[in-house]
Amino acid sequence: MSSQQVDRDHLSAYEIALLQFDEACAHMNLRQGVAKMLRTCKRELTVNFPVVMDNDEVEMFTGYRVHHSTIRGPTKGGIRFHPDVSLDEVRALAMWMSLKCAVANIPYGGAKGGVIVDPKKLSRRELERLTRRYATEISILIGPDSDIPAPDVGTDPQIMAWIMDTYSMHQGYTVPAVVTGKPALIGGSAGRPGATGRSVTYCALRAMEHLGIPVRQARVAVQGYGNVGSWTARLLHDAGCRVIAVSDSRGAIYNASGLNAQAVLDHKQKTGSVVGLNGSEAIGEQEMMGLECEVLVPAALEMAITSEVAKDIKARIISEGANGPTTPAADDILQQKDVFIVPDILANSGGVIVSYFEWVQDFQRLFWHEREINRRLEELLDVAFGEVLSAARKEGVTMRTAATMTAVQRMHDATILRGIYP
Ligand code: NAD
Repeated sequence: MSSQQVDRDHLSAYEIALLQFDEACAHMNLRQGVAKMLRTCKRELTVNFPVVMDNDEVEMFTGYRVHHSTIRGPTKGGIRFHPDVSLDEVRALAMWMSLKCAVANIPYGGAKGGVIVDPKKLSRRELERLTRRYATEISILIGPDSDIPAPDVGTDPQIMAWIMDTYSMHQGYTVPAVVTGKPALIGGSAGRPGATGRSVTYCALRAMEHLGIPVRQARVAVQGYGNVGSWTARLLHDAGCRVIAVSDSRGAIYNASGLNAQAVLDHKQKTGSVVGLNGSEAIGEQEMMGLECEVLVPAALEMAITSEVAKDIKARIISEGANGPTTPAADDILQQKDVFIVPDILANSGGVIVSYFEWVQDFQRLFWHEREINRRLEELLDVAFGEVLSAARKEGVTMRTAATMTAVQRMHDATILRGIYP
């Protein structure tokens, strides 16, 4: 392994985001200074706040909300509750959100938030108090016209409901459009829970079509069996693929003749893990990532695919469900191996696209049928996938660089049109 590969394997999430941005800019002719502006996060808020725990003790927590760019519209981005949350990670995720919204051509800039906490260790009442206090702390930034949060790792529709309620209590009236990914009963959208998995699936199927790989019996491995992973596995299973392996934080399971993706989810919901499913064999995580398969879907956390993992990968296609799952060193290796990667900012954009539909519906007070949501989602994905693929061919670059170039060009052109204030 060269020293260059070692360096490109050990960058922080934000360093990776900046590197990808710079690699795209190197192929572009941008106005001097605008690229500098677009590679910098616009606002970064850190909040330290107390929560009364069930035992009456007070504990302090730290959270963040970062706005990367407001050039193309209000900011949009999820909230993560996880022990490893850091300002660096939140910055990277905010920047990827800007790029994602620009690739999908929806009128948002990027944001992200997070709290350093393991939500599994809190009671439901503690989780609600933490959420409401964090929502109040970041209320100087969030709002239906300014910054609209959504779920991410460790947060869910219930947590979005508490954030919406907290914000609404401060306003004195109900403001559904302040968050997306809410339960349908209080202004959530049909199709939102499965939206990210749906775009990961759509991109995997388009990539198979592009490479001439038959969908029927195509072997699929999915890392991470949360919202994104479990929806992707079920939708690819429904499309006729064979899901041969899946994993979660407790381990990986395998069956060469195919796992029933819905049965895996039922088992996880009952026992807390995919491990131990009847008719499956336990395998190592690394072994799972290196399985012979047509499609590999990383749907857990950032930097899951390092150069160490990449050298064993035998998949023909990677459709990135997680944000930032591939290190630049791994990207280099996978490119040499001719693995077709549909990058995160394209593959997992279904979540933010349907969040956009939810926000529009909340403003209109008029809700669409799930068929309509899925049709519109496919329409946007079809255009985005086509634009990125043709940019990749025209410029002779990877799909990741092509997607980043497409996004940066839109953000750059919007900046030129608006001008630099004052
Ligand atoms: P989630 O919390 O529902 O699921 C995460 C899953 O990953 C869990 O099953 C967890 O056990 C598993 N996991 C954690 N560490 C693992 C490891 N080392 N090996 C294998 N599995 C591991 O989260 P989610 O909402 O599904 O998000 C997953 C990824 O997708 C994140 O990177 C997130 O930023 C990204 N994403 C999510 C959405 C969305 O709409 N939820 C949208 C775009 C991108």
